[in-house]
Amino acid sequence: MACARWLLGRWASVWMLLGLMVLGGCARELPYQRLEGPTMGTRYLVRFQPPAADFDAAALQASVDARLEALNASLSTYRSDSLISAFNQAAPGQVMPIDQDFERMLDLSRQVHQASGGAFDPTLGGLLQLWGFAWPKPEQPLTRLPQAAAIEAAKASFDNLSQPAPGQLVKRAPLQLDFSAIAKGYGVDLIADVVHAQGIAHYMVEIGGEVATRGKGPAGGAWRIGIEEPDPLSSVRVLARLNLSEAALATSGHYRNFFELEGRRFSHIIDPVTGYPVAEPPLSVSVLASTVALADAWATAFMVLDENRGLALAEAHGLAVYWVYERDGVRRIQQSSRMSPYLVPDAGTH
Ligand code: AMP
Ligand code: MG
Repeated sequence: MACARWLLGRWASVWMLLGLMVLGGCARELPYQRLEGPTMGTRYLVRFQPPAADFDAAALQASVDARLEALNASLSTYRSDSLISAFNQAAPGQVMPIDQDFERMLDLSRQVHQASGGAFDPTLGGLLQLWGFAWPKPEQPLTRLPQAAAIEAAKASFDNLSQPAPGQLVKRAPLQLDFSAIAKGYGVDLIADVVHAQGIAHYMVEIGGEVATRGKGPAGGAWRIGIEEPDPLSSVRVLARLNLSEAALATSGHYRNFFELEGRRFSHIIDPVTGYPVAEPPLSVSVLASTVALADAWATAFMVLDENRGLALAEAHGLAVYWVYERDGVRRIQQSSRMSPYLVPDAGTH
């Protein structure tokens, strides 16, 4: 606002011109701010350049928190009073209420479910429970593998869901929904909408590694976002850097969440077709898509899909994808053709 006072004066038009230049300068020089808070078992982070010096960041944070609260009240399986928990506990045939976020999650999930040949499937809540990956986590880790018959019985499908009217959902067979593989990305999209609606042109939003960017980063150019080294014990921290301006990025990884039983390592990613954890998923997959929700769902799907099929689908759907594989201790990178324009050259292994 101090800048605006420069506009006053006798030589209004000259000052106006100068003022606009100064205002432009002021806007560029406003330092980036940071908001963060807990959500979805992790934290959200917003970095942004305020549109004015007297911008009310506390009000923005209150709006972000309110939007996330509404989302969690609908879709959090951690909360027994959420719409999704009520739906999961309901008996087949019982008509249950859902809200717009729930409907949107179903629509986006169905879209990626179909496009990925069933690799992404939020109807696998029963399988997640059987394998000890659902919330609440089992008190004891699994001591034996689930029986094949139990796995067969826990399999479910989108075909078992129907929406008799807007705002209603019914299961035709016992099933439990779990949107863990898309909800963080969706949450990022929602926060980005809130931030954007405040007239903020330059921002980055993140929840647990799922990222939306717009405009410029604090260094003046595109946002620089790192794809993390999958091995947390490694001294190498960032495997690749991406230049992102208006982008939606999500990463799925096997390296943080798995369990070992009978000498084998089991991924938290389940192949909905077999009902078993994926045997040798990539160490990580990063995806750029049109929204972070879609990127998030696709990243999980690419953990399930084998390498050739994954690459073919990424090319067919025009997705920029970056896979990190490790077989017999040898690290290997695979990427789809759309990924290379985003990669910062020479960032490779530093
Ligand atoms: P993400 O980190 O986005 O890949 O999400 C992984 C989580 O999604 C897992 O911990 C499970 O809760 C759930 N999940 C596992 N396999 C699938 C799948 N094939 N489709 C949808 N969700 C899944
Ligand atoms: Mg995901």
